[in-house]
Amino acid sequence: MPFYKVRKLWNEKIETLSRDEIRALQLKRLKKQVSYNYQNSLFYRNKMDDAGAKPGDIQSFETFSKIPLMTKDEQRKTQEESIERYGNPYALMACAPREKIVRINSTSGTTGMPTLYTLTQHDIDVVNEMHARKYWRAGIRPGDIMIQALSLSMFTGGLPLSQGIMHMGACVVPIGIEGGTKRVLDFIRLTAPAAIIATPSFGQYMIEKCPQIIGKDAKDLGLKWFFCAGEPGGGNPEVRKMLAQGFGAKVFDHTGGGHAFHGISCDEPPEQFSGMHFISEDHCLLELLDPNTKKPIEIEDNASGEMVFTFLDWEGGPLMRYSLGDILRVSVNPCQCGMPGMRFKIIGRADDMLIIKGVNVYPEAVKTAILKFRPKVTGFFQILLNKPGPLVEPPLNIMLEYDKSVSKAELPLLEEKMLSLFKEEVRIAPQLEWVSAETLPREMKKTNFIKIKEINA
Ligand SMILES: [Zn+2]
Repeated sequence: MPFYKVRKLWNEKIETLSRDEIRALQLKRLKKQVSYNYQNSLFYRNKMDDAGAKPGDIQSFETFSKIPLMTKDEQRKTQEESIERYGNPYALMACAPREKIVRINSTSGTTGMPTLYTLTQHDIDVVNEMHARKYWRAGIRPGDIMIQALSLSMFTGGLPLSQGIMHMGACVVPIGIEGGTKRVLDFIRLTAPAAIIATPSFGQYMIEKCPQIIGKDAKDLGLKWFFCAGEPGGGNPEVRKMLAQGFGAKVFDHTGGGHAFHGISCDEPPEQFSGMHFISEDHCLLELLDPNTKKPIEIEDNASGEMVFTFLDWEGGPLMRYSLGDILRVSVNPCQCGMPGMRFKIIGRADDMLIIKGVNVYPEAVKTAILKFRPKVTGFFQILLNKPGPLVEPPLNIMLEYDKSVSKAELPLLEEKMLSLFKEEVRIAPQLEWVSAETLPREMKKTNFIKIKEINA
């Protein structure tokens, strides 16, 4: 039998390291990385000098956590400053000499100026390795065809992902979603893929539209895997169930945030979601912080906080103590799926957090509550705010769709049940505004659940 049919992990040596072994490897790499960053980047040198820290001081994770955080805004500002002073966007931050940088990637840039990632061949090899580890765990093997229906081009789920799939020996169809749903469906017919990689909202949209566009159900497309990416819905049990049923496929959530932070969920029934296994710990140090005070939170079972990461054994543009604003909850106990590694759940974004009468509410929690009422609701909703959060004057206004099968007369009872669930599980009493099915916008890329009302003069 070929090796790839029996081997469960892509990199057995690294992926099965014990907690202590991985921490020791991280500390060794961290010391080296900090002094490399200090020596090769003016940005990091200034940052550490300002904080009165020298690379030699960093002998433990604790002393490392004293170095000030780095934010996306700071990264953008440094890019701008680099352009002004040196005529290119990465002079101040990239640590490798220019001739070693072979690829520049970017975030999707949905808000403000895109931030850049500069990679050397070594860094690209690391990213490819991480994609291979994820899909291998999910059961993808050489010979499987994967259709990549995310926004393509240079963001992390675009070309870098296509390369990672090829690296592990599977076959990628980099169709993208720029050409629309019909084109994705045409290529599914033409290439007979076993797996699709897409946002959960695009999956939901396909389930709705397949009968209309191609005259058959999504579950007759022959897909065996649905890999969620690009938005947090893949961790929502109701969304998973909907995708699993709609496609007749196994559903996995996975992420490759910022190139170094990679995780994939377990092979488990859709009702369960025990988080994603963090599979890139040898190249990414994770810290958790209190989102308000920025004080460190110890990584132990059930701990939650704002994630901060540091690239390890990285050459091009290694981010250090960088916060993307995601709020994670972690588990370090062995997982029942039998796969090694700590797990994390992305429970919201620091940016999206709303505070209603002292209660922290994430749009994902609102979505989970609403989806419990399927099929009486479509699952599409929008949170309407008068002004940007996080503070919201109660009640929280939610506009949501009821299903075609529901009559207006049934709405009061549905609303009553939903309000009681909101009270119990989200601890808020929202104001619901019902609209008929297919009223709210369907977004193919990332769904923005929060809308700021325009104030008419
Ligand atoms: Zn697991």
